[in-house]
Amino acid sequence: MRTIVVGGGVVGVTTAYYLFKEGHEVVVVDKATKVGAEATAVNAGLIAPGHCFAWASPAAPKMLVKSLFGEKTSIRVKPTLNPRFLWWGLQFMRECTTERAAINTLAKMHLCDYSQTKLDEIALAEGLTTKVSTKVCCTYIATWQNLNLVWAR
Ligand SMILES: Cc1cc2nc3c(=O)[nH]c(=O)nc-3n(C[C@H](O)[C@H](O)[C@H](O)COP(=O)(O)OP(=O)(O)OC[C@H]3O[C@@H](n4cnc5c(N)ncnc54)[C@H](O)[C@@H]3O)c2cc1C
Repeated sequence: MRTIVVGGGVVGVTTAYYLFKEGHEVVVVDKATKVGAEATAVNAGLIAPGHCFAWASPAAPKMLVKSLFGEKTSIRVKPTLNPRFLWWGLQFMRECTTERAAINTLAKMHLCDYSQTKLDEIALAEGLTTKVSTKVCCTYIATWQNLNLVWAR
């Protein structure tokens, strides 16, 4: 089957890689003139399971309000009346409860684990082991209480 993947960042290229491995004919299309030109080009290249706490947390709304008054916060918004932004903002706010943040953090932790496994798998299959560091980047959050402290900051 011929499959078109739209977007040649890390997600698109990895999707294309696995589709190709399964025997599909794959075409990656991108609006830019080269692959990996956007978020993928600037990331720090870390898979950091210990840094997987959800950005949408009980601390986020306060940070967003502070950012409106020019304070330098981890999460910043540039308000606009664009309906898509307003819809996204509403959904983001609904995830800012302690319960949702815990669920999302756990999901991100599992995703980190999965990503690390896949990265190792690709590195081994393609002989990239010298270019991929296996050092684990970890910030320990030992208990849910500590996690709440992180969110409270
Ligand atoms: C400063 C920074 C540091 C980061 N550090 C880390 C890190 O250390 N670890 C980590 O795990 N994550 C990190 N991230 C997040 C990570 O970079 C992104 O989650 C990841 O790159 C997203 O990949 P993507 O393929 O979804 O998106 P992108 O890399 O943005 O790729 C999307 C592609 O789609 C193309 N595209 C968009 N619209 C269209 C269209 N209409 N038609 C055709 N093509 C289109 C774009 O040109 C682009 O090439 C960081 C992000 C930033 C900004």
